[in-house]
Amino acid sequence: MYQSFIGLEVHIHLLTKTKVFCGCRSAFGDEPNTNVCPVCMGYPGVLPALNIEAMRMGCMVARALNCRIPPRTWFERKQYFYPDMPKNYQISQFASPLGQEGYLDLEDRGIRGGGRGESPKRVRIKECHLEEDAGKMIHTGTVSLLDYNRAGVSLLEIVTEPDMETGEDAEIFIQQLRRMVRYLGVCDGNMEEGSLRADANVSINLPGKGLGRKVEIKNLNSSRFVRLALNHEIVRQGERLDAGKTVVQETRLWNENRDQTEPMRTKENAQDYRYFPEPDLPVFEPDKAFLASVEAALVELPVPRMRRFETDFGLSPEQADLICDEKAQADYFEATVTAAVQRGMEKRDAAARLCNWLLTDIKHLLSREGLSPRDLPSFTLGPGRLAALAALVARGEVSLKNAREAAEAVLAEDKDPEIIIRERGWERIADPEKIAQTVNSVYTAEAAVFEEVRSAHTGGNTKRANTLTAYLVGKVLSASGGRADPGIVRSQVEALIAKPA
Ligand SMILES: [Zn+2]
Repeated sequence: MYQSFIGLEVHIHLLTKTKVFCGCRSAFGDEPNTNVCPVCMGYPGVLPALNIEAMRMGCMVARALNCRIPPRTWFERKQYFYPDMPKNYQISQFASPLGQEGYLDLEDRGIRGGGRGESPKRVRIKECHLEEDAGKMIHTGTVSLLDYNRAGVSLLEIVTEPDMETGEDAEIFIQQLRRMVRYLGVCDGNMEEGSLRADANVSINLPGKGLGRKVEIKNLNSSRFVRLALNHEIVRQGERLDAGKTVVQETRLWNENRDQTEPMRTKENAQDYRYFPEPDLPVFEPDKAFLASVEAALVELPVPRMRRFETDFGLSPEQADLICDEKAQADYFEATVTAAVQRGMEKRDAAARLCNWLLTDIKHLLSREGLSPRDLPSFTLGPGRLAALAALVARGEVSLKNAREAAEAVLAEDKDPEIIIRERGWERIADPEKIAQTVNSVYTAEAAVFEEVRSAHTGGNTKRANTLTAYLVGKVLSASGGRADPGIVRSQVEALIAKPA
């Protein structure tokens, strides 16, 4: 009965080698206070210098979010005191952020309930701005420790308009954005380590009355918490309004142990920060070469890629979603299908087989080797080798069982699968005379079973006859080491059954 309005502010750590305004190393997990210098420690009289790589990565995200990059963008000082910020101000962007007025269409992955085909929900992006991160405070008992390694790390903040309505919308937004920035290679998206953090704001009101009084929820470090916290907050605010109370404009935190939001502090206004232009950094006016380098670094984004995999390769939406979760995996899949087509396989047949193979066997092999899909570019069983195996199976030249064993051997021996199959003698036997020899030896050993099948047929017990026939076919296949062509084996076994003893 109430209308809800959700906006997000997502902070991502850009994967620049150095910090945004100094030359210190930008890395997670280093010994505390080792990646620091007078600039990021905020000593008086030092001069910041813009890391152009941070600006480029920020602009890549802005473009991927359909934002406009203004001809002039600059930095402001955002004044506030906090122990993790020794300068007492943060260099950020306020009046002319690097990305402005974009949008992201929410991909319906079934979580929102609506069916595919309904028009996607568009979330407007207000801006993307570049700033420096603060240090990290670690509270242990009565002591608070400070680690300034994170102070000055390149941070991009993405601010949406309040266009989402449910926790599920916000969860999809975060997941989609996370996959996007990982595809672009500008952020590792690791929410546990804080390289992607989200603050949410939410208000509710009677339909048609516009925005209600806004509550902010800070420091949500998983997309699931974003969903839970927002849905909880929408219910809480609704109950207050139902009871004739008002919603207090405040900042709240998600308490994951109690599954509820709790008040943190009342909200400062933007004016409290006393923004003013950073005098030590020049205005940034992107030239043609810079803008061209941004465009050149953009890659096909996850959503269009999934759609293409569905139409070009015949993958189901679920398969496309799984394959495209990691860019390296999608790249590997596509390269393997291309290599299989070059070996004469039909594209969709190759895609169907390889998709299964990738999501089961290859996934298993990777995890056994202690690797992840991100390691696929240097995987010993590369696209050419996997395509060769798939083509051999498709042509019936190798059994699936032997192909699986060959995949393992490729990893162990770093040889091409064709060589391994030749060395092991795993080529499929399709020569009827060779197969007849094996069938005959099984006939001798299992004469009683053959007799039983015949009497089952005579007695009209087809089910029993079929079971026993399958048993005999299996015996021959296993006697051939899984190499005999199953079709030929079956017809020879059936011929022997039909022949009176
Ligand atoms: Zn520094």
